[in-house]
Order: sequence, then C-alpha cells, then structure tokens
Amino acid sequence: MVAQATAPAHPIASSLWHEPNDLTFIDADDRTNIVHYSAPSQSRPGDANIVALDILSGSTFCNCKASECGKGCWHQELVQAAWDGHPARILAARYSDAQLHASGKKASHMCAWARHRRFRVLPADALALVAARGEYKRRYRVAPDAAHAAHVAA
Ligand SMILES: [Zn+2]
Repeated sequence: MVAQATAPAHPIASSLWHEPNDLTFIDADDRTNIVHYSAPSQSRPGDANIVALDILSGSTFCNCKASECGKGCWHQELVQAAWDGHPARILAARYSDAQLHASGKKASHMCAWARHRRFRVLPADALALVAARGEYKRRYRVAPDAAHAAHVAA
C-alpha cells in the first residue's frame, strides 16, 4: 500500500457527494493506533482505496489517485466521521472513567497475551484497545502511553 500524508482538506470538499457510511471499516492496529477503511476506487474499477486514520494524532493517509497527486480526497475528509460512528468508538465514549480504564486494560492484556503466545491478536481486542486509547486521549488530552510513562516515572 502506498500511503501519503496530505495537507488539510480543500475548501471545496468532494465529500459533498459522499457520507461517512460510504467508507467500510477494515481493521484497527493496536501497535500503531491506526484504523483502516476502504472505498471502491473510481479510477481503478474493481480495486479499492485504503484510507488510514491515526486515532491519537488525527493524521490521515490515503492511497487513492487524488491523494497521490497531492489533492485532498473525500476519503480523508470523512474518515474521522466514519470512525466517530463506529460502534466501538461510541461504546468507549459512553464508558465511565472506571469502565474505560478496565476496558483498555483488559484489551491491552489480551493483545499482549496473544503476542506472547504467538497467537493472532483477535481483531475485537485490537479494536477495543484502539477505541479505549482514542477515548482516553479525547478525555484527558494526552496519549495513554505518555500518561502511563509519566505515572511510572513519578
Ligand atoms: Zn483518498
């Protein structure tokens, strides 16, 4: 996959003709805190564009033709909204602080356990962990790993 970072969205958004539900969730990577979505390619029929969202920084990447040419694309404009509508993201947003902590801790443990055992990390665990990290960042304005490191250092 060729990914390219892009500038902020153009003022005249191509997203006028699209909505977040036009993007299909693919997966969440707990090691990079990136979620991936896809959409059918208009320029390459039968192929799909892959758009990525870093849920901690808000950075987006896309491999579509418009993005490769340095133009904004609707995929990147709408991927945050698509993620905001994902059930795992909505659930994490509704957790109490204690529930959020417990959910993130459990998902983190399950991901680490699977890797230690050389098992495949369950997609649901990776998704729950990424959602919990994103919600933690939203609530406390700090990345969970940075907060953990500060707590350990104190
Ligand atoms: Zn794109």
